[in-house]
Amino acid sequence: MLVVGLTGGIGAGKSTAAERFAERGAVVIDVDAIGREVLAPGGRAERGVIDAFGPGILDEHGRIDRARVAAEVFGRPDRLATLEAISHPAINAELDQRLGELAGGGEVQVVVLDMAVLAESRLGRLESGRGYTKVVVVEAPEAVRLPRLIQRGLTEEQARARMASQATDARRRALADHVIVNSGSPSDLAAAVDRVWAELTGQ
Ligand code: ADP
Repeated sequence: MLVVGLTGGIGAGKSTAAERFAERGAVVIDVDAIGREVLAPGGRAERGVIDAFGPGILDEHGRIDRARVAAEVFGRPDRLATLEAISHPAINAELDQRLGELAGGGEVQVVVLDMAVLAESRLGRLESGRGYTKVVVVEAPEAVRLPRLIQRGLTEEQARARMASQATDARRRALADHVIVNSGSPSDLAAAVDRVWAELTGQ
């Protein structure tokens, strides 16, 4: 079973590329969604994050309010490091379990980990050896990403702040086995994903 890490700067088209990989037959795991699940009631990181950040991050039902957590860590690298030291191992443990189940089933050939955070951390790199072994990066120029993000409902300021908080294109590219440049039409993107699929699977 081949496990691929798919990443890209916000608005580059990572999720759209993931959909195309799914159409080609990959199982796509939304790693950002697992990041939310580990903080939910009963999640693997819930207790640890509450212990580290205190009751100020809880909503009126006693659940972790992710917006409050985000506000706690915004612009504070030490607090962000604390959060990630708890949440990232939890996400990796969950990933390890799911990948183990998929591998055990024996039917899945390609798993794509859809993950905004790849270059920045050890997410998706698993001691079991089950983590990603190939990296695909989706890239697009800022001038293309910005209007896409604004159309998606972010203000220009929010979009720029998100982009600034992520790894640079150069940093992602340095890790990439395949780079998909998404500066054309959606069908150009689909064709580019198909080419990468062919290279990954030998089909
Ligand atoms: P990411 O997951 O990298 O943040 P998305 O795949 O969600 O990015 O794409 C951001 C937005 O841009 C979405 O609304 C998507 O439909 C749109 N989009 C993606 N690729 C293209 C393209 N080639 N042409 C036009 N719009 C696109």
